[in-house]
Amino acid sequence: AAEVIAGWNAPDQVAAAQAHLLSPFESMEKLGQTPDRPLLTRGEGVWLYDEAGRQLLDGPAGMWCTQVGYARPEIAEAIAAQAMTISYSSPWYFLNGPSAALAARIAAVTPGDLNHVFFTTGGSSAVDSALRFMQFYNNVLGRAGKKTILARIDGYHGSSHLTAAVSGRAGNRPNFDLEMETISFLSAPNMFTRPEGMDEAAFCDHLIAELEERIETLGADSIGCFIAEPVLASGGILVPPQGYHQRTLEICRRHDILYISDEVVTGFGRLGHWFASEEVYGITPDIITFAKGVTSGYVPLGGFAISDAVLARIAGEKSKQSFYSNGYTYSGQPVACAAGLASMDIIEGDGLLEHVRDIAPYFQAQLATLADLPLVGDVRGAGLLGCVEIVADRAKGVSTDLDAKLTLRIDRLCYDKGLIVRPIRSMCVMSPALVITREQIDLMVRILRE
Ligand code: PLP
Repeated sequence: AAEVIAGWNAPDQVAAAQAHLLSPFESMEKLGQTPDRPLLTRGEGVWLYDEAGRQLLDGPAGMWCTQVGYARPEIAEAIAAQAMTISYSSPWYFLNGPSAALAARIAAVTPGDLNHVFFTTGGSSAVDSALRFMQFYNNVLGRAGKKTILARIDGYHGSSHLTAAVSGRAGNRPNFDLEMETISFLSAPNMFTRPEGMDEAAFCDHLIAELEERIETLGADSIGCFIAEPVLASGGILVPPQGYHQRTLEICRRHDILYISDEVVTGFGRLGHWFASEEVYGITPDIITFAKGVTSGYVPLGGFAISDAVLARIAGEKSKQSFYSNGYTYSGQPVACAAGLASMDIIEGDGLLEHVRDIAPYFQAQLATLADLPLVGDVRGAGLLGCVEIVADRAKGVSTDLDAKLTLRIDRLCYDKGLIVRPIRSMCVMSPALVITREQIDLMVRILRE
């Protein structure tokens, strides 16, 4: 198959896509037309190359996932070696070395007593599995009514039915029947659009009061979990106000509500640590979901890590008649886990966590220099996650549909100059591979400024 595909020329590939490929989040209006997505032919480090031979700096690192960069032979070799040793083993009937080793490796870098790992196929299945675990857990504990999920407007947790249902981004919801009574949305911790006149501390108090009121209204006995990204990624690189994470966790603990930290984007070095929950934001959640960076995007893999304390509550007799009947053909897929081990080896061996901690302030400072441009409404971020928000009419203070259109044009212009932006609505989101250098950051910011 590789030879056949290598033998295809770009027009053939584009024609095949036009005739047969359905892309994610696509408008059916364009079905059968030439796809407006460029065809990539190669990647190396932070660079991508398209069919026209253009060299492009990959601003979003694929979809915030190519931590160690493209074309690392160590990962390719680990994948090939595992495929030739044992390419698949059923997680129902067998153990395999790479999944056991990767579970141990991840358990060693998660906070506190999050010592067990459940593998899935990606981020959506990771979050889906964590939410289903919450349902299972409360059923085992004889609390069938304690299942409501507290989520946040503008949160993004995936594209399965359940994870799309808990995702609070309005734009993803039309045309699906996602409404479920067991989900309750809280405000996004959006510092950029916070009520006028509120400083950071007052805004945090405001969000915490909302959470407490919601629990009071719904009743803690009906709430199973709170799910939150440490920094809302697709929702707009929203870094919550200081203290928000600790205070929400403390409230959840007080009401026996599981705290699920969705680190699909923030995990595996994006904020300079294996996970952001503890080392950046000082919390040890009950469950951490991960995907993307776990294999640097080389092959699909996701999962969740869960605390011993939570598992202990349902272990033994209590679970005798119960079954966590959730899992996938590819849970712990050995080739994927081998890729994960190789990627973690590189992150460790190349000192990439230290590199991110070292370079992130420079990255944030350079992006911040764009704030003087008349089209820029806000620049924000954390670690190697950054966002330049386009607000043409500063008097309005928030982005409009026109800004989203302008951002698409910025994306096109940047592409022609050699930078991939992949805008999210009116945001130019930058989350480069962890290996990015100061010179490459300079280039990114120079092109954005132009
Ligand atoms: N959770 C978060 C925070 C994400 O950003 C995403 C995807 O972007 C997901 C979950 C879903 O992951 P996947 O697309 O791998 O299913």
